Amino acid sequence: MRALHRPLTGPTAPRRVARVWLLDLDDTLHDAQPAIMPRIDAAMTDYVVRHLGLAREEASALRLDYWKRYGATLLGLVTHHPIDPHHYLRETHRFPDMHRLVRRRPALARALRQLPGRRIIVTNGPWHYARAVVRALGIAGSIEGIVPIEAMRFAGRFQPKPSRPMMGRLVARLRTRPSCCVLVDDTVGNLAGARAAGLRTVLATTLKEARKPASTRARAGSSRAVELQVQSILQLSRRVPSRSTL
Ligand SMILES: [Mg+2]
Repeated sequence: MRALHRPLTGPTAPRRVARVWLLDLDDTLHDAQPAIMPRIDAAMTDYVVRHLGLAREEASALRLDYWKRYGATLLGLVTHHPIDPHHYLRETHRFPDMHRLVRRRPALARALRQLPGRRIIVTNGPWHYARAVVRALGIAGSIEGIVPIEAMRFAGRFQPKPSRPMMGRLVARLRTRPSCCVLVDDTVGNLAGARAAGLRTVLATTLKEARKPASTRARAGSSRAVELQVQSILQLSRRVPSRSTL
């Protein structure tokens, strides 16, 4: 496992025609909602309180406002304040107890290995956090590398998912073609960015959607961004060999 850290400016000539699975991490490969996300949200609010000198309520509102406006709180903070993004990412994703929060999943490791082609995690989370989750899940041997948010910085700013230019740069960096890449993600907006860049798309729903009423769950067909919907990577690995279009 390695961090694909270099800027997304690789050669554009396709190296080979192989399927490239671009796999989201949180709520796609593991369930981040119950234990991890509330801690990240609280840490982000704490950070804004400490570094911008706001009251907790104001800090929480600002964090949410930036998240809505920019898609990531980080983007708003570095745009409007003298915040060191790496310090922020480190301080807001501290999980020395990751192995208690994320269980080892041998079945997931096996399912990933059954996906034919290259398998790369693409996450809007930072490198140290993604690496800790991958190690806790026990899937490091099933993936080629991780593209963390630190690698999604070009033209002087962070451009994480669902940035269409970022997707295009990532495809070039991996020396492949958009049509060879499949983004598997639980967020329809991220899939829309990938689809606009010419990638194939799979909506992974179970982990987050299972907590919602059936009538409000995301569905393939509810958006042109979603080509295929699966309940898990395990289901995807069972379906892919018999499915020639993906
Ligand atoms: Mg996700």
